[in-house]
Amino acid sequence: MITIIAAMQEEIDLYLSKMKQETQISYAGITFYRGLLAGKEISLAVCGIGKVNAAMCAQLAIDHFSPQALIHSGVAGGLAPDLKPLDLVIAQSLVEHDMDTTHFGDPLGQIPRMKYFDFPCDPTLAEYAKQSAEEAGADFRTGLIASGDQFVASHEKADFLYSQFHACACEMEGAAIAHVCCLNELPFVVIRAISDNARTGAFMQYEQFLSQAAALSAQTVMGILEKI
Ligand code: SAH
Repeated sequence: MITIIAAMQEEIDLYLSKMKQETQISYAGITFYRGLLAGKEISLAVCGIGKVNAAMCAQLAIDHFSPQALIHSGVAGGLAPDLKPLDLVIAQSLVEHDMDTTHFGDPLGQIPRMKYFDFPCDPTLAEYAKQSAEEAGADFRTGLIASGDQFVASHEKADFLYSQFHACACEMEGAAIAHVCCLNELPFVVIRAISDNARTGAFMQYEQFLSQAAALSAQTVMGILEKI
């Protein structure tokens, strides 16, 4: 069993259209779709937006389905200046950019008293993701993704996240899912397609590219499933 989680319905449309023998079950208001994708047994859910929804969904999936791996896909804002809508980012690791105990001398993003600063993705799954992105002919890069409960839509904030964390993309769920997977010692990978450049015009671009970027991200995950 492999679990796939996305934040929004638009981000699972492609999976649902291809899923076979689908059944549904709900926990804590989250619907999990179970079935076959690329011949693999899958549990699939929309977690909702933000870190708390994402963390809860990941733990529910782990407790109820005991997956061998978890894949998180969806859309993100680009922080690296040369990233454009419909490029792909394969996370090497993720950080919670809005965790701030800097008053105590901790670095921004460090969760106090945790051994992790950033949460690393499984290298084998990330390698499958790269191969899949290459097969799809997508422009992709690997790097750090910064997650926080904030839609980033200003040059200042985007520049800050880029220079502070060297993050290539920002979104609102990935690091929370990564955090839960690390604590459960579950291999995971996060794939995000750029819907908007978080520096300029993020809102307009997000609206314009959401469905195409969501499909690209899901298509890349389908390629990973074939390799697992
Ligand atoms: N009212 C909007 C809210 C979208 S929030 C809606 O319901 O569509 C943006 C979502 O896309 C989050 O799930 C987040 O992970 C991702 N995202 C895309 N671009 C982002 C950006 N520039 N900053 C933060 N999150 C972004």
